[in-house]
Formats: sequence, structure tokens, C-alpha cells
Amino acid sequence: MEQLSPHRPFQAHLECIECGESYDLYQVLYRCKKCDGLIDVVHDIEALKQFDAATWKDTFARRFRYPGYPFSSGVWGKKEWVLPGIDLEHVISLGEGATPLIPLHRLARQWGIASLEVKQCGVSHTGSFKDLGMTVLVSHVVSLRARGIPIQAVACASTGDTSAALAAYAAAADIPVIVFLPEGKISTAQLVQPLSNGAIVISLDTDFDGCMEIVRAVTEDQSIYLANSMNPLRIEGQKTISVEMAQQRNWELPDWIVIPGGNLGNVSALAQGIRLLHENEMIEKVPKICVAQSSRANPLYLSYQKGLKDLQKVQASRTLASAIQIGNPVSYPRAVRALQDFQGVVEQASEDELANAAARADLHGLFNDPHTGVALACTEKLVSNGTIKPEDSVVVISTAHGLKFSEFKTGYHEGNLEDVESTIGNQPIRLSADVERVRDAIKSRIS
Ligand SMILES: *Cc1c(COP(=O)(O)O)cnc(C)c1O
Ligand SMILES: [Zn+2]
Repeated sequence: MEQLSPHRPFQAHLECIECGESYDLYQVLYRCKKCDGLIDVVHDIEALKQFDAATWKDTFARRFRYPGYPFSSGVWGKKEWVLPGIDLEHVISLGEGATPLIPLHRLARQWGIASLEVKQCGVSHTGSFKDLGMTVLVSHVVSLRARGIPIQAVACASTGDTSAALAAYAAAADIPVIVFLPEGKISTAQLVQPLSNGAIVISLDTDFDGCMEIVRAVTEDQSIYLANSMNPLRIEGQKTISVEMAQQRNWELPDWIVIPGGNLGNVSALAQGIRLLHENEMIEKVPKICVAQSSRANPLYLSYQKGLKDLQKVQASRTLASAIQIGNPVSYPRAVRALQDFQGVVEQASEDELANAAARADLHGLFNDPHTGVALACTEKLVSNGTIKPEDSVVVISTAHGLKFSEFKTGYHEGNLEDVESTIGNQPIRLSADVERVRDAIKSRIS
């Protein structure tokens, strides 16, 4: 695959989001040494701007679903915007990204809005958008090790999907993995993924926030590399969601993007992608953002109600949207910036609302996980309260594959989810093998 050859090399460095201190990219650093602020990867925009928008659009288009490794990946097809300096030999890709953007015309008509599309980020190697960040983080670890930085293992705290993605990419790279999971709070599919990939799985008698504290302590030793989204390398991969979405919509973003939020890395990534598109003059108009939370784990919602000054930490309680059961989100300062830059709002959904919203959208051909259910339920609320207007176009970010949450899907249709009234539960019709009874049963369902 032909690559662009700039005069001024494409490059990126680390930068503190609070005090602006800058650091070399090739080191182990998660927080500013001066002020303890979060760190971003910052790209040399002047270098990127050596090529005009038309050249970038054309380059990305040629690489989209290109048959060769690793440019076939939705992330590495945008390598110059992600990790420009990486040696292609160090890239660990499992074919992430390039996920479908599915229009739901009937549902948009029902809701009375101009258009509704769902970005299916869960249609991916380990079944969630976490793959987009992990391919970059693990590839970066490979390149750090090649530079002689003694990283022995990678580690994360997880509500399930992060550990599945980390375990897969690290196994592909032959790097040991340690994952910390909250005992009994993740789905069976999510637990079996890291186990299958040979990860050291430590199940802790605490919640996600408790696991996060442990992993932070363990990774103070620089030989164990932190893979949570506090680490900005993750954000670099995940931000390609915005770029890919723009590409799939002929370089025009929608009026609204609705995204479920837990630790708030993904909304920060979404915003980073939009900023980069705008700075490179690839899009004219920027979208508004809605972060959707479970009402049982709603620290951003509560903070938003209070004008986004201080983070309103909560003790998250058990929710079907288990991947966003987080009360003390690490990327809160990044998310605040995202909401401020893109006229953001925060909405919340109850268990009943998220489960029924997921089921209703399933009737349009999707198979929604509970987190996408949260986003869909919040979108419906914004439509009914007039925040989203009839002329608006909307993209909902679907974060995981419904097959990872089969207990949720089955429970809904069997009508045994706690605090959920399954308004459209569907069950098999059990009959003896008698053709007349079968005909009668069919007749009663299609008129
Ligand atoms: C991780 C995750 C989220 C939340 O993303 P954050 O970056 O933590 O806000 C939402 N949905 C699913 C399925 C996830 O795995
Ligand atoms: Zn700083």
C-alpha cells in the first residue's frame, strides 16, 4: 500500500491537558509529572496539513476495507492520524474497525426525525469498540519494548470488554496480561474471553472503581503497563470512530451523536476525532454530543445537572448496562471538554427504559446490547423533549455486540429481568408436530 511522503514528518507527542507540559511519546506516562493532569496524544497539525482535505479523503477511501494487512483495519488505514511514527512491523491488528453504519429509516420516521443511523462498533474482533483502542495501545507497547523500555506485562481493570480486548491483542503480541475484574459483575462471555486468551484473570471482591484503584497501584511499577483509557493511546485508536463515521456519511457528520458513557474515554475519543477532522478541514459542520448513562451509574449526569463544575462521584449500583457501571470516571475532565466543545448534553435511562429501547430497535434488524439500549432510550427522550428536532440527523454509537450479553437478551424475552417490564418479549410457540396446528399458529401471527 502506497504511503504519503511528507516533507515535514508526521509526528505526535504527549501533552498534559491541564498545564500543557509536553513529553516524548516513547515513554511510560499516564499523568503529568508537574500537575498530575491527564495526558493526551497531540499530533503535529502543520505536518498533517501538508496534504489537503481531498488528499486525505482519497487516501482513507482507498484504504477502506483494503485487502492487505494492516491497512485493512479501520484504525491503521488512518495510521498518520493515529500513530504516525510506528514501524508497521510493530502493528498488532486483528481487523478492527471498518464497522457498518446502519440506517434505520422506519424507526426515524416513527420518531419523527430526519434520519437515524447506528454505528455498529461492536461488530469487531472481541465484540466491542474496545478493540479500536487496544490495537493502538498494544502496538505501541511492542514498539516501546523494541526501543528497550522494559515492559513485562500489560494490565487493566475492566467491566468486561476492556479485558477481552486487551487479552486478545496482547496474546497476539505474545505479551503477558493481567486483568482485574469485579467479581460477579460481568457477563459469562466477557469472562471467558480473557480466560481463553491465557490472561492472568484476577477476580476481586469489589466494583470497577475498586479494581481501578488496584490496577493503578500495580502499574506504579513501570514494568507493568496500564491499559485503561486513562492511557491516551487507547483514545487515539477509538477516535477513528468519528473519522470513519464522517467517511461513511460522505464527509458530513450528523446533527447529533449519542454515545453511552462509563469511564468516559470513548466520548473523549469521539470528540478528539471530530476536532481533528475539523482542524484538517475535512468537515464543515460539527455535531452536538449526548452522553447517555444508566440512572444507576450516573456521575456525569449529576455533574451536568450542576453545571459541570466538580465531578459528582457516586457508588454505582448494579445495572444491566454492566460495562458502564462506573461511579468515578477517570476521563471526567476530558469529557467535560468534549461536552463544552460540542454543545453537549447528558441524559440517563432506567433499567426498564434501556431494555425496552434495545428490544424495540431489535425489531428493525439490530441485536442491541444493554449499553446501546441506554443510548437508544436517551435518544428517544431527547426527541420527545424537543432537544433533538424533527429536521435533525442522529447517529447512535452501538458499543458492543448483543451476543456478548445473551443473558440480557434471553432474560428480556423470558420476562425475568429485574425492574424491567418486557413490553415486547417474544417466546417460541411450542406445538406438537401437527401441520394444522402449525398453520393456525402462523395465521394468528400474520394477518
Ligand atoms: C467500555 C464500554 C462503554 C463505555 O465506554 P467508556 O469509555 O468507559 O465511557 C460502553 N459500552 C460498552 C459496551 C463498553 O464496553
Ligand atoms: Zn500538567
